Amino acid sequence: MHSTIAERLSDILHTLPEGVELVAVSKFHPIEALAEAYAAGQRAFGESRAQELSVKAPALPSDIRWHFIGHLQTNKVRPVVTHASMIESVDSERLLNAIDREAERQQKVARVLLQVHVAQEETKFGFSPAEVLDYFKDRRFETLKATHICGLMAMASNTDDTERVRSDFSRVASLQREILATAPDLRGFDTLSMGMSDDYPIAISEGATLVRVGSAIFGPREY
Ligand SMILES: *Cc1c(COP(=O)(O)O)cnc(C)c1O
Repeated sequence: MHSTIAERLSDILHTLPEGVELVAVSKFHPIEALAEAYAAGQRAFGESRAQELSVKAPALPSDIRWHFIGHLQTNKVRPVVTHASMIESVDSERLLNAIDREAERQQKVARVLLQVHVAQEETKFGFSPAEVLDYFKDRRFETLKATHICGLMAMASNTDDTERVRSDFSRVASLQREILATAPDLRGFDTLSMGMSDDYPIAISEGATLVRVGSAIFGPREY
């Protein structure tokens, strides 16, 4: 591994095929680290806490595109809708509707991804594949007034078993195709956010259009 943030960023960018966007996951890292990545040309950053985003966004250049990737409570949507160019971690219909109301209030369009749970670990966060499919089958997205669902986000199982990881990603990609078959009039439902430092090459080979890479750029996080 190279020693600077700029060199690590450049190494990763060189491995990304055209059409795959890199979100540099900067959560828990100081402003100076983000500024270094910004100076190297990086413009999309990922944060996982509303409070941290609210501090970092005003302190850094305004052409940064902030991606929100953490679990979001409905009572904290306001600053995230204000600052995020995409909220990737929409893990319930309740949250989706809260974001929609807030976006309408702020007179903007919220761009979001629905987070799907396909990993083997138990978690309370994320839609199941069946829930997401039903959401589109029932055309419940038509009730949204100020939100554009741009696609899906997922994490693979936390395992060294690369075949399991590959099949998790492949399941998300096929879910996206099923949704598009169910609602062929959906527009701009083309983002597949999958892959992190340890598994993004597998995610790309399964169709990811956006990868969320943190520690491979910024080093280990200090929680
Ligand atoms: C922290 C985080 C990442 C980045 O993880 P790394 O292993 O550091 O690359 C990606 N996606 C989500 C949802 C995260 O919470």
